[in-house]
Amino acid sequence: MARGRAAQLLSRRREVESRLQEIEDELTALRRTREGAADDDEHDPDGVPLSEQWSRLEGLRRARAGVLAGVDQAEARLERGEDGRCRRCGGAISPARLAARPEATTCIDCAF
Ligand SMILES: [Zn+2]
Repeated sequence: MARGRAAQLLSRRREVESRLQEIEDELTALRRTREGAADDDEHDPDGVPLSEQWSRLEGLRRARAGVLAGVDQAEARLERGEDGRCRRCGGAISPARLAARPEATTCIDCAF
């Protein structure tokens, strides 16, 4: 079980890291576009203002970074033998929830 969890967390980490890399690449591309664009970005030919694309990507990057931090915490808890226990109520976190969100550290009831 613990081995399965470690593998689950590792594959989650890889998945999130590669998505984070994609977002970083898009941000880099956008930064270049912005530097080359006229200062009035409301007239971007794609119709979506660059500033809007920028905030969307920044939001995604923050969300992914948050998931990665969650993976770090879940791995630390796994090492301490606290994995699969809700950090708020101490109850069991369902395997289905851990499969869907490997970095989850609270049960479904405490998540909301
Ligand atoms: Zn709980």
